[in-house]
Amino acid sequence: MFLHQISQIIVTKTTAIMPMINMKKNVLSRHRRYSLHKTVFDWFTHNQKKLPWRSETPDPYIVLLSEIMLQQTQTSRIAEKLPHFLHQFPTLQSLAQASNKQIILAWQGMGYNNRALRLRDCAKIIVENYHGVIPDDVETLRTLPGIGAYTASAIASFAYFHNVPVVDVNIRRIFSRLLHKVTNNHDTISEKESWEIAMKLLPDNQGHIWHQALMDIGSLFCTARLPRCLECPLSSDCQSAFTIIESKKTAKPEPLHRSVPHRIWRGKIIELLRKSPNHSEDEKTILHALFQENQTNIDIDFLHFILQKLELNNLIELNKSPHAIIVSLKE
Ligand code: SF4
Repeated sequence: MFLHQISQIIVTKTTAIMPMINMKKNVLSRHRRYSLHKTVFDWFTHNQKKLPWRSETPDPYIVLLSEIMLQQTQTSRIAEKLPHFLHQFPTLQSLAQASNKQIILAWQGMGYNNRALRLRDCAKIIVENYHGVIPDDVETLRTLPGIGAYTASAIASFAYFHNVPVVDVNIRRIFSRLLHKVTNNHDTISEKESWEIAMKLLPDNQGHIWHQALMDIGSLFCTARLPRCLECPLSSDCQSAFTIIESKKTAKPEPLHRSVPHRIWRGKIIELLRKSPNHSEDEKTILHALFQENQTNIDIDFLHFILQKLELNNLIELNKSPHAIIVSLKE
């Protein structure tokens, strides 16, 4: 795959934090590339994280599940939840047949419940349009629900060992610091530049190992808040080694009700329904339970607003009687 093809799959929206670093010159000499690859591969051979979805003979279904689950949830949580999920949905076909309610119940503890429905929809399309075989090329994968630029490349790389560039937040952070002198922990190159560097640094036939190693180094040493350069295997190659100081980040504004983000209220309502015996409650019980848990009232108009959103997202059903609104997980 060439750079012009990569640029087509890059999400144009940038989440880079100012000031951006201007990446104009060539990334690394051949000698430095070789040295960097050797350092990373040597480190990975002895120190790689043992994760249930990593294997020398990976199962594309398990890679697909883990990559969707990991999108907004911690690795340790997914390592714990994945075996239970696989027990319930051992094959892509079984996942494709899951009802909304079954998949939302199985998604317990992983947050962002819309992802669960998108994953099931993705499985359905693969069963219906691709004979149940998960596509192995980035372009096709990107057309599936819930799969963006990173996830498509990760599946092609980690499930099928295709030598394509992969960029997640950890890799982007490492490239930013490795190749430019950075002093603030939030400084980062743009997403577009990250993909260009990923393409230039891609080792022959070893992309899947290279990217997994960078992700491990990013999560263990080159962390978002304050890098641990003293222990990092890249410190002798890195332009930002020991130069970064931590600065406060302004939190991204998100809609709040009673100082609690809307997404938290949505998650609490789904969690409540998961735990209730029939996965169904009337709105007064929901109001009371939310008050008990948060020690703060939730306005009835706001509750209706959130319930309508959840209904629109196909996560719940609302049945209105003259005396109550019954809220249930969608069948
Ligand atoms: S030396 Fe420090 S800044 Fe550079 S990659 Fe390692 S942890 Fe990150």
